[in-house]
Amino acid sequence: MVQPYKHEPFTDFTAEENRKAYLDGLKTVEGYLGKDYHLLIDGERVTTEDKIVSINPSNKEEVIGRVSKASIELAEKAMQAAVKAFKTWRKAKPEMRADVLFKAAAIIRRRKHEFSALLTKEAGKPWREADADTAEAIDFLEYYARQILTIKNGVPVNSRPNEFNRYEYIPLGVGVIISPWNFPLAIMAGTTVAAIVAGNTVLLKPASTTPVVAAKFVEVMEEAGLPKGVLNFVPGSGAEVGDYLVDHKDTRFISFTGSRDVGLRINERASKLNKGQIWLKRVIAEMGGKDTIVVDHEADLELAAQAIVSSAFSFSGQKCSACSRAVVVAEVYDQVLNRVIELTKGLSIGNPEDHNHFMGPVIDQGAFNKIMEYVKIGQQEGRLAAGGEGDDSKGYFIKPTIFADLEPDSRLMQEEIFGPVAGFTKARDFSHALEIANNTEYGLTGAVITKNRDKIQQAREDFHVGNLYFNRGCTGAIVGYQPFGGFNMSGTDSKAGGPDYLLLHMQAKTTSEMF
Ligand code: GLU
Repeated sequence: MVQPYKHEPFTDFTAEENRKAYLDGLKTVEGYLGKDYHLLIDGERVTTEDKIVSINPSNKEEVIGRVSKASIELAEKAMQAAVKAFKTWRKAKPEMRADVLFKAAAIIRRRKHEFSALLTKEAGKPWREADADTAEAIDFLEYYARQILTIKNGVPVNSRPNEFNRYEYIPLGVGVIISPWNFPLAIMAGTTVAAIVAGNTVLLKPASTTPVVAAKFVEVMEEAGLPKGVLNFVPGSGAEVGDYLVDHKDTRFISFTGSRDVGLRINERASKLNKGQIWLKRVIAEMGGKDTIVVDHEADLELAAQAIVSSAFSFSGQKCSACSRAVVVAEVYDQVLNRVIELTKGLSIGNPEDHNHFMGPVIDQGAFNKIMEYVKIGQQEGRLAAGGEGDDSKGYFIKPTIFADLEPDSRLMQEEIFGPVAGFTKARDFSHALEIANNTEYGLTGAVITKNRDKIQQAREDFHVGNLYFNRGCTGAIVGYQPFGGFNMSGTDSKAGGPDYLLLHMQAKTTSEMF
């Protein structure tokens, strides 16, 4: 019998044996650095001349791997493989599809620290963050496998005498999965397996900065017994292969996680009818965030400061859930700000292979330049209270940075920076704070720190975000516990790790038989 779902526990790195296990994982990864990885099309490995070179963002000299890059012709071949495999995979028993996910979860669990160490090397994730990413990947596998088993028979509907009506969910077809680099294992795996376990076949285009961990995951799915052609691996350029697949007449849906601008581009292209296409494409999109922690004066202020610092700077602020805005009521503004500055100045930053560092690098030169640009803008718009310095000589390191006294409509308080930069704004009172919190085009996460029950209720009703947290930080949603997704420009509010996520990859069919 399938056991009830429970999320994968995080590793306690204060225990010597766990630290050793992680270091062993790092050694394993060091043993395969610089290797070549291939496309997977219809179960065949395909090698191309053109390669994506994945490097370690803490140490630009270190090559993690070289990954073959799909051309349009190969993308087309992969599409044909997915179209063909759909004919049989859509009929595979849900139990059998679920078993592939259960086995994949078991394989990753056995190699947990190796996967986490690879995330440290390829994405610059500190141990704790890498461990959470791997745990979340396991959770998605375990959770979606169970979910297909609960929805496989559909939902009961009424029948009249001599009639038998059924209402069931069937898969959609071929999906294109475009996954991000910030959760290069969890979100990549989660979006891929949700589509697959629902009976669809997919083309996976991973982020170009983190393709090696995706290649390793594809190997796990093969080992778990996934039939060929169900998961086709096509790393490549977004502008070339991404657009080609999004536009393709045989694409039935696109599952995208990434920036607002790319999400809008995909949504627009997907809405155009292409020759031979006979459906409206579905877009599942998880886009940006500009997430706020609101601090009331009737609050545990130490908790508030800790929540702001950890939500703003864990994984260098490179989460769409990251706290990039703190809105604090006037009475306690200085106190909270000063404590946040103090905590921020105490954070250590460096190569995340050394687990004493709280923060590692940002992902690449492009991100480094963009974030440093915002640091300049912040100096014009507000008061630099901590950090503000970057060093890209060896890797892409930026100090955790705080800007104080920003206007609510300043660029720093409105635009997604996706780096370790947080801004502070003073509010007159709690209602004003909520007003400021709502004044962005995003609506992903938010948190409210208060002891006042009425204010909790007020925020519950009026703070318009997909994930709202009370008396804690605004990152770290757990699969099956806090389904994750946002409103407005944060995407289609497709709740990853939620009870209705698989249904987004399916369509309902009514059948009615007369007896
Ligand atoms: N699910 C993650 C969290 O709750 C964030 C995902 C993302 O940044 O895309 O922190």
